[in-house]
Amino acid sequence: MASQVNDETAPVTRQRLRVTGVVQGVGFRPTVYQLATSLDLAGCVGNDSAGVFIELEGPAAAIDEFVLRLQADPPPLAHIDSVTRRVMSPQGETKFVIVESRSDSSATTLVSPDLEVCDDCLAEMNDPDDRRYRYPFINCTNCGPRFTITKSTPYDRPFTTMASFVMCELCQSEYDDPADRRFHAQPNACPDCGPRIWLERDAVVPVDDVVAATRDLIANGEVVAIKGIGGFHLACDARNAEAVAIMRARKHRTAKPFAVMAADMATVETIANLASAERDLLKSPQRPIVLVEESTGSDLVAGIAPGNSRIGVMLPYTPLHHLLLEPGDVWVMTSANYASEPIVKSNREARAKLSELADTLLLHDRSIHVHCDDSVVRIAAGEELPIRRSRGFAPFPVRLARSVPPTLAVGGELKATFCLADGTNAFMSQHIGDMENLETLDAFTAAVAHMVELFRIEPETVVADLHPRYLSTRWAQEHYSDRLILVQHHHAHIASVMAEHGHTDPVIGFSFDGTGYGDDGTIWGGEVIVGDLDDLHRAGRLGTALLVGGDAAVKRPYRMALSHLWAAGIGWDERLPPVTHSSEEERRIIRQQLETGLNSVETTSMGRLFDAVASIAGVCQEISYEGQAAIELEALGTADAEGRYRFDLISDDEALIIDPGAVVAAVAGDVAAGVPASVISGRFHAAVAAVIVAAAEHLRRRYHIGTVALSGGVFQNVTLLESAKKGLEEVGFAVLTHRLVPPNDGGLALGQIALVGRR
Ligand SMILES: [Zn+2]
Ligand SMILES: [Zn+2]
Ligand SMILES: [Zn+2]
Repeated sequence: MASQVNDETAPVTRQRLRVTGVVQGVGFRPTVYQLATSLDLAGCVGNDSAGVFIELEGPAAAIDEFVLRLQADPPPLAHIDSVTRRVMSPQGETKFVIVESRSDSSATTLVSPDLEVCDDCLAEMNDPDDRRYRYPFINCTNCGPRFTITKSTPYDRPFTTMASFVMCELCQSEYDDPADRRFHAQPNACPDCGPRIWLERDAVVPVDDVVAATRDLIANGEVVAIKGIGGFHLACDARNAEAVAIMRARKHRTAKPFAVMAADMATVETIANLASAERDLLKSPQRPIVLVEESTGSDLVAGIAPGNSRIGVMLPYTPLHHLLLEPGDVWVMTSANYASEPIVKSNREARAKLSELADTLLLHDRSIHVHCDDSVVRIAAGEELPIRRSRGFAPFPVRLARSVPPTLAVGGELKATFCLADGTNAFMSQHIGDMENLETLDAFTAAVAHMVELFRIEPETVVADLHPRYLSTRWAQEHYSDRLILVQHHHAHIASVMAEHGHTDPVIGFSFDGTGYGDDGTIWGGEVIVGDLDDLHRAGRLGTALLVGGDAAVKRPYRMALSHLWAAGIGWDERLPPVTHSSEEERRIIRQQLETGLNSVETTSMGRLFDAVASIAGVCQEISYEGQAAIELEALGTADAEGRYRFDLISDDEALIIDPGAVVAAVAGDVAAGVPASVISGRFHAAVAAVIVAAAEHLRRRYHIGTVALSGGVFQNVTLLESAKKGLEEVGFAVLTHRLVPPNDGGLALGQIALVGRR
């Protein structure tokens, strides 16, 4: 006969639970409190630097039940990595309490990214009877700023930029009440005690309703700088051509696309053709900018994304955005900065730097401790392809398959990010910017210090790119010369995509980008890298061309076109766009440089081949932002096997050479024959995809490797990525592509980290 378990008589035990993951600042302790009290368990819960600790006293069966329910139904924004249990001796407690946070210098906890405002808070904000009616800083444990206001851990109000605001009685009582949605919500505030917004020109603009006044300014064609979560945006009406032109002129930004914010999903549907994966991504809690196809019925001005078929769209993510944009509104919302400097984040900086860019400033007095730009994501083959991983994602870690010692990887130069790792946690930083000036270097230094403080990881090893002139490499040499490892750029790209898949077996890697410093001191960028994380080596490459005049060839694709035509032995026919675009004098100098190699460096860059083809096809002769020519070439068409061009694959004992000569000749022939650029684009994309498949098959016979890894900035090109992936899968390869970090140099630091464990 089975005996019935009687809780009254069951022996009392006490257990200590340790919960790790994203468990702080996400309403974890109130959930634990409510669950424990509902199960009549005594004990305590608290935050410490390692996560959350829970002590439970009661019948063992009830404690088991507690653990089951907590794991099955955690708070919505929590992410439990592990729960460990240890038996203790009972202390005769009868109550469950939430205890003060404990600081422990040896442990790492996770910090939540900044979160979009939740539906509960929005409902209160729109309720005229609520005390936070139309309050732009409404938040709760389920939403609001986190990463950008947190100065140190544990995540507690004194360690955030909210420390200077003293909560009123009502806010404090919510904060203290374990049953309340704002229990220990560190940014908790209300109109009586919290941050405020105001408008400034030379002085504060006296208006009754800041939101209404801002809407009027935008409607009148003004550019307004709006302080957000991770920095300032420059905003204007996306349907006002004059306002958009003014913004471009002031930012000295001639062609780089601007992102827009649309009031709601219904508004997005009026300007874009959305796939369902794109809809989900727009609504996801990270609220990234999603690159979507602009619809033919869109009434946005053409100047928003010149030469692009796609526009970057995001939905409102702060309470202030929800107040500012009304249904139907679409505003340009671009990072407020000068060209390559980091996004402006403080009121002082805004007054000094943004007065020339914006007519009016919309300021608030909640400080932003670290900057964090909007993230940018595209959908490729139905999956997320990060272009910029920042707000909403940072500093959530990428998990490594192989444990590493405390390590800092400083990334590359353009689209810089860094990575701080310990064990299997790789904390990728927010987007820092192009490391080409002191302002960006300062922002980089501050962001590194912040992450070291948050995660208490003191790097024993530091990894940098091999390029001797990268500011990041120099920074690492200056600060950590005693523990520095240098890693080749294209190896790091391949290691990066391997790391995010936890892949440690050998791969055939295609590392295609614009520029990276090669082992031999030349500029690489069309590399086939073979091996596993312990031993990657170059097994193939694109045929070389000369980068005539160095950087000048990067900024002016027509120079690269002339160089590739010359390398392919094709005359500079007067009908070809790169020839008509250059003066006779310039061509004479270029010819001289090509003949003598003077002021030129050899390159195997695939990015530069895209530039050359874009130029020969008449698509783009000079660029004003990185990747512009390739982006405009991609925008023209889909990969088209009909009449596709063919690369020659030349194999010798040392390496496999992808010779572009025949492709360059065929492009020039098509241009002379009047074939439209869209057709040329399709044939070229198909050719690159096909040669990836052919090279992979060739190397599979040689190395018996069945997995291909695709990385490097060229694989932001979805037409190429999808076409190459499909072709590779058709001949039986497993294909690794980026889903967690960008294929461009924004993902480089993860690969640098992965290469630290090398034997
Ligand atoms: Zn909320
Ligand atoms: Zn208050
Ligand atoms: Zn690169």
